[in-house]
Amino acid sequence: MCRHLAFLGPPTPLATLISAPEHGLLRQSWAPRRQRNGTMNADGFGVGWYAAEDPVPARYRRAVPMWTDQSFADLARVTTSTAVLAAVRSATPGTTPDEAAAAPYTSGKWMFSHNGRIDNWPRSAETLAATLPPARLLALEARVDSALLWALVLERLQSPDYGVQHSAADVLARVAIDAAAASPGRYNFLLTDGTTIAATAAGDTLFWRSDNRGTVVASEPSDDDAGWHEVPDQSLLVATSHGVDISPISHVEMEPALR
Ligand code: GLN
Repeated sequence: MCRHLAFLGPPTPLATLISAPEHGLLRQSWAPRRQRNGTMNADGFGVGWYAAEDPVPARYRRAVPMWTDQSFADLARVTTSTAVLAAVRSATPGTTPDEAAAAPYTSGKWMFSHNGRIDNWPRSAETLAATLPPARLLALEARVDSALLWALVLERLQSPDYGVQHSAADVLARVAIDAAAASPGRYNFLLTDGTTIAATAAGDTLFWRSDNRGTVVASEPSDDDAGWHEVPDQSLLVATSHGVDISPISHVEMEPALR
């Protein structure tokens, strides 16, 4: 299913990350190289980025294929950022087709994307949905499995325990574990607040590259550079300006009081 990408680094044009690389997200919208499920990502796209001195990201989403949007090509050429999250979408059957369903999903400083699906949506998602307060369910941005998973992440990020006992990366891993336990599916997530990227590899492909151009975490490499590393399945990746850390997703099971 979808392809997504997160970036942290020196100020970089969106085009350098998304459209300029030979096999970047733009090309991946019609010809991904490593996608195991689905062949194209033409059901919309979204890009979110942080501007200097504003903790809340800007977001541009459309329901059309990325390659058809001339306005985005212009925007990407002149917009630079130190932290970006972008995705091209291959919609899961039975989900909202409009731009409200395209990642990134946002709340305050957070941006989130889901590459994968809850199998047999929506029936199989009932157990997960039942763990959320009704107000959270009513506030879902779109009828799509990814919006439900984002609500589960946000519920934990906004709980009084958050930050005391656990980090955003713990939250992400916890939701991937809980979702997989409640329903079979693929749960590759990206979460950023503009200074840290947390990512899960849980059923789909994930790669990273870090050098003086910055750190990119992406569903697949955007070129044939030797610096790309594949993340093993069932891993949690955390990237900051200090480096990239990868651990088995199950380690989060040992964290106390994550529910
Ligand atoms: N299930 C999500 C959607 O429908 C993500 C799909 C994907 O990874 N292709 O948008």
